[in-house]
Amino acid sequence: MTVPIAKLSFWGVRGSTPTVDPATWRYGGNTPCLELIAPDGTQIILDCGTGLRMLGSRWAAPSGGKTPETHILVTHYHWDHIQGIPFFSPLYVENNEFHFYSFRSKFLGRDSLKQVFEAQMALPYFPVDMSAMNAKRKFKEVDGGESFTVGENNVTARWLNHPQGCLGFRIETPAGIVAYATDNEPGDAKLDESLRELAAGADIFINDAQFTPEQLETTRKGWGHSSWLEGARVARQAEAKTLVLFHHDPDSTDRMVDSILRQAREEFDSVFAASEGMVVTLGAPGDRVQAHMPGTRTALRREAQFQAKVCGVTEGGKDFEEETVVRDISLQGALISLKHMPRLQSELQVTMEAPGADGVQSMNLRGYVVRIDAGAEKGHVAVGVVFTD
Ligand SMILES: [Zn+2]
Ligand SMILES: [Zn+2]
Repeated sequence: MTVPIAKLSFWGVRGSTPTVDPATWRYGGNTPCLELIAPDGTQIILDCGTGLRMLGSRWAAPSGGKTPETHILVTHYHWDHIQGIPFFSPLYVENNEFHFYSFRSKFLGRDSLKQVFEAQMALPYFPVDMSAMNAKRKFKEVDGGESFTVGENNVTARWLNHPQGCLGFRIETPAGIVAYATDNEPGDAKLDESLRELAAGADIFINDAQFTPEQLETTRKGWGHSSWLEGARVARQAEAKTLVLFHHDPDSTDRMVDSILRQAREEFDSVFAASEGMVVTLGAPGDRVQAHMPGTRTALRREAQFQAKVCGVTEGGKDFEEETVVRDISLQGALISLKHMPRLQSELQVTMEAPGADGVQSMNLRGYVVRIDAGAEKGHVAVGVVFTD
């Protein structure tokens, strides 16, 4: 018997507007776009932010020998959730078929999403005419409270509290439940309840964490977004298993998101900060939710033998310190063999002894854990870190 596994990929995690600031590269600068491959092979895309272009350039049509068919759920029409559409190359390929789902906006009326497409591609905003979009496109209107099935999966939409409206989606697959609740602000009793219904018992609960709790109470009140603290609160009340902090503020540097994540982990056990390229699998035997970070060290790698002392936090939340050898290093990061199992997305202090002009010198670096390979060597785990400032 094969175990049903669903795969959720994060192609864009930034809120409001894309960022290219080097201080934001680790979590990524593309705006919202997620892709869920359900156990039955159904491909569901959540939102069409600039991350959609990346997905399009690594496009693999869903298998099965039939017409490649994709379901695209759009939460709302703010730029950051639709801007990738004209740059999504599979839309220009005749054999592809896309089913779009979104709500009827009171500002646009009938066929809201279709109108968004046309407006985005109208002259002088975009040089390519709509007629070049050769893929089949079908548009379906969904309302808050509605449920429908795609393949073997059940999708429920619910209204969230956001200017001009926003839908949250709950996708129930045979491998587990994903709740996607970007762009929402707490404080409206009815919509707070609908957020909890979306998240109820979810294996993965993706929530807006754009602002700090302080901002949310003061300068950013009424802007339509939430915080890590609110996410942790809802995750606890709704008994969600894993919380993913999402829709990072364009002004939040990687260091700021690190600190948001650290605080959230003090409030709730299983938390990740969404990062571009992150893949979460659902339903794998043993650990129901597993996260994998992208391979970030593309620069020249050198095999090395540096004596090092490493301090960090284990998977179980305990501080540790150990002496080891750094075996592989690049300008961006290193591969370190450890007896302890550090926590994914946690920080390690790495002190290395490096030979210099004046004898052996000690070098202090801050590493951020992006990869853990437990099967590499008996009694040890191979830990991939990215160096941060
Ligand atoms: Zn947004
Ligand atoms: Zn929005």
